Amino acid sequence: MIPDKIKQVRNSIRFIEGEIKKYCPRCKQWKPANHNNYYAKSKDITGFANLCKACDREYSKERSTKARLTKDIYRNNKGTLEILCRDCGEWKEANKDNFHLGSKSVLGFYTSCKLCTNKKALTKKLNFINTLTNEINLIKD
Ligand SMILES: [Zn+2]
Ligand SMILES: [Zn+2]
Repeated sequence: MIPDKIKQVRNSIRFIEGEIKKYCPRCKQWKPANHNNYYAKSKDITGFANLCKACDREYSKERSTKARLTKDIYRNNKGTLEILCRDCGEWKEANKDNFHLGSKSVLGFYTSCKLCTNKKALTKKLNFINTLTNEINLIKD
């Protein structure tokens, strides 16, 4: 039995063409294991970060963009958390009266306020009734 940690090293560090190379799982490339290519990370058994420097930068850029997007939707208004409704564009307090609960959202709320969500549901229902009425009219003709 090979311990998992050794296996992990064998999968990510290899001696290739006279050089010790480390595998970056993001760009799927073997790059020389040095501090030009990888950040030092003492906690990792290899002594290097998992991703190469280029990928690491990309990754943190992506993460901060996501955080910024979230920040645009939520705000702290004098201690009250508010959500920007993406349909009516109004800031409303983040609570169950204003927003339906949705597990997919960051804070657990939908990003459309209840009024807008309900309006949309109503429009859908009305459209359905209209279609139905049209169909009934067709049959009558
Ligand atoms: Zn990479
Ligand atoms: Zn709204």
